[in-house]
Formats: sequence, structure tokens, C-alpha cells
Amino acid sequence: AFDTLVIGGGPAGAAAAIYSARKGINTGIAAERFGGQVADTLGIENFISVTHTEGPKLVSALEEHVKDYEVDVMNLQHATSLKAADTNGGLHEVTLASGATLKSKTLVLATGARWREMNVPGEQQYRNKGVAYCPHCDGPLFKGKHVAVIGGGNSGVEAAIDLAGIVGHVTLIEFMGDMRADAVLQKKLKSLPNVDIILNAQTTEVNGDGSRVNGLTYKDRTTDDIKHLTLEGIFVQIGLVPNTEWLKGSPVEMNPHGEIIVDGHGMTSVPGIFAAGDVTTVPYKQIVIAMGEGAKASLGAFDYLIRQ
Ligand code: FAD
Repeated sequence: AFDTLVIGGGPAGAAAAIYSARKGINTGIAAERFGGQVADTLGIENFISVTHTEGPKLVSALEEHVKDYEVDVMNLQHATSLKAADTNGGLHEVTLASGATLKSKTLVLATGARWREMNVPGEQQYRNKGVAYCPHCDGPLFKGKHVAVIGGGNSGVEAAIDLAGIVGHVTLIEFMGDMRADAVLQKKLKSLPNVDIILNAQTTEVNGDGSRVNGLTYKDRTTDDIKHLTLEGIFVQIGLVPNTEWLKGSPVEMNPHGEIIVDGHGMTSVPGIFAAGDVTTVPYKQIVIAMGEGAKASLGAFDYLIRQ
């Protein structure tokens, strides 16, 4: 059995595995796809101390750093369920899609999250070519340009306010007849001179010139008219979904969004089970934050182990 088993191989999982291995304890990491969301990222300019890097490059560096230690790396392994230890200090069990079961004294759950997509034509084709999901990451790439934000919930309205300070113009597109965001955010948004809001609008297509986004098509749901906007970027803000489906039925407590609830040491509601990164309730989903949280959860797990 492992002392610490990490599930997930994104920045949070990689950091957790390195911190555990450096304690000289028996460490394993199982991931469906090593690198996680970073593997899907083009430019990264907010990974502090690195002015610019690219997703695949950072993934290789993560992998190399993990492999520099005695870590049992199990890539392409999808965890399907978790059975918590029956007794305090007992072994937790994680079952993989292959049917294998991994046992460990402590776990760090770092299965990340995924952006909810619009699922309209052009979205995939122009992903990273004008279609973006993270305003903190990609906002500065659209300096002075016209962008749309899809979604009028808190994250959409926050993104629109944030982007309005960087880009030339923001059009917020909301499917329903009103926005769901907090009133204070809506008021702030409406006070900005370079923002307009289109309600009752269903985005039907991302338009482009073959290499980059150049517009968006939507249906006015009140009249069924099809309309076009000319713009250079589209920020999709219709939800970030934590990868916790596999934990259903486990005693690990989650909030109503499905995010794992952790304390200041990264511990979940189950003693010996820790979690880190985008999969948790910790706000602001970023690489640098996921790495810090992974390190923290791993140190939390080590602290737990030495007290057993
Ligand atoms: P993830 O990166 O999501 O990794 C999760 C890991 O868990 C993966 O290895 C996955 O395969 C694995 N996994 C999931 N489910 C299972 C399962 N059931 N069994 C086994 N393994 C599983 N952040 C920045 O700071 N700067 C940026 O410029 C930036 N740009 C981004 C661009 C894009 C397009 C996207 C999508 C995100 C971007 N982010 C950026 C956000 C950043 O990538 C995430 O905050 C970060 O990757 C979260 O790390 P994580 O380790 O918590 O999760």
C-alpha cells in the first residue's frame, strides 16, 4: 500500500506527488491524462517567474520533475470509485476503470475541473484562437479588441467587468431574459461605458476566418431572428464543472456545485483524505494556485501520517 496516493496529474497532483516523495514516503500518482488542463493550454503568461511558456512544455517539465523522484506514476488510469477506510488510520481504496484497486494510508484528490462548453459549431475549431475560458489567463491577449462574454451568472459578469478594463469593448450575452449574477455586480457592469448586454440570446455559432474568431451568431429568442456580431474574442463563462462524479456515494463532502470541501490543511471531511486544486472549494482556479494547494495538501497528509 502507498503512504500517499495522488489521484490526478495536473499541476495540483504533480506538486502533491513531488512534496510527498521528498518526504521519503511511498508515493503513487494515478491520472487519466498527465498534465490535465495545462495540456490544452496554448500560452501561459501568469505562471510566476516564467514570463511565457506553453501548455505542453509545462506538462513535460511537470512530468520530468515528478519522474526525478521515486514516484509510482500510473498514467492513463481513470479512477471510478473511492472506498474510505473503515477505521481511523486504515487504508483507503481507489478503484480504477481497469478493475485494479489501489490502497493507501492517505489520499490527495486532485482530479481538477473542466469548463462547460457551448457545444456550437466553431467552438472547438477556434478554441485558443479567439475562444477562451479564463479571463485571468487570456484577457490581456485581447487588449483593445471587441470580445463577447457568454453567460450572465456571477462568473460571466465578473469576467465582463474584468475584461472591460483591458479590452476595447465587451458584449455580454445571456440566454435568459435576465442575468443571474448578484445585483451589485450587475449594477457595476451596467455602469461601464464600453459594455453592452444582450438578453434572450442563444449563441448558435462561433464564426471565424479559418484561423481566428471574427464573429458570433446568435438567435434572438424573443423574435427568433438570427443576428451576427463582429468581434475578435469569445469568453465562455457558463460554468466550471469539478471532476467529482467518481466520488458520488463516497463520504467525501462536497458543496452543491460538486466541489470537494477542504480545510486549511487541504483535508476533506474524511480523516486522511486530502484534496487540492480546481476540484476543491478553494476559489480562483489557476495553475499557480493549484500547485500551492497540491503542496499544502501533501504536507497535510504527511502531518497526518506522522501522527498515526
Ligand atoms: P487539472 O489540470 O484539471 O488536472 C486534473 C487531473 O486529474 C488530470 O490529470 C486529469 O486527467 C485527472 N483526472 C480527472 N478525473 C480523473 C479520474 N476520475 N481518475 C483519474 N484521473 C482523473 N491557469 C493559469 O494559471 N494560467 C493560464 O494561462 C491558464 N490557461 C488555461 C487555459 C485553458 C484552455 C484552460 C482549460 C485552463 C487554463 N488555466 C490557466 C487553468 C489551469 O489550467 C487550472 O487551474 C489548473 O490546471 C488546475 O490544476 P488541477 O491540477 O487542479 O486540475
